[in-house]
Amino acid sequence: MTTSTPATTENVPGDQPMFCANHPETETYLRCNKCGKPICLKCAELTEVGYRCKECIREQQNVFYNALTADNWIAFAVAAGITLVAWPIVAFLLRITGFFGWIIAALVGSGAGAALAQIIRNSVGRRRGRYIRHFTLAGIIVGLVLSGFITMTFAGFAPFFSLQGLLFLVLAMAAAYQTLRW
Ligand SMILES: [Zn+2]
Ligand SMILES: [Zn+2]
Repeated sequence: MTTSTPATTENVPGDQPMFCANHPETETYLRCNKCGKPICLKCAELTEVGYRCKECIREQQNVFYNALTADNWIAFAVAAGITLVAWPIVAFLLRITGFFGWIIAALVGSGAGAALAQIIRNSVGRRRGRYIRHFTLAGIIVGLVLSGFITMTFAGFAPFFSLQGLLFLVLAMAAAYQTLRW
């Protein structure tokens, strides 16, 4: 007796809802495209390469951000050191050039910030870090404060009191931050 039930191929796997690995009550048709785990919409994040579970995304970021803890402090020290030396010179030049100081500040501010970012990137072995840009900004600010203190004490010259200088600083810091985003 052949109770023939011909190949109707009903319920192809994939047509059937699965249940989210994190929410066993939630039906879903989605899978993480890296580990294949069923995930619901709440658990899925759309990346450039498709839906991924949070675990896979975190793992990916840990590979991407390969900086060492010391790299943050290297970035801080390099930013502070360069700012400490360069800022009094830049501020002085911007001040004595008067109106042209505005043009110079607008033209070279961003470039100076991007150049600083490149130096920092090289000095941390081109490793990528989540916080390197924050440490860089903190280093610039510490360098500014120190250089202001030193020049006021020893040269009676306050590098902060110039709006051209302020424009230069804003542009340079924005460019450095942007460049170090990766
Ligand atoms: Zn996954
Ligand atoms: Zn879920």
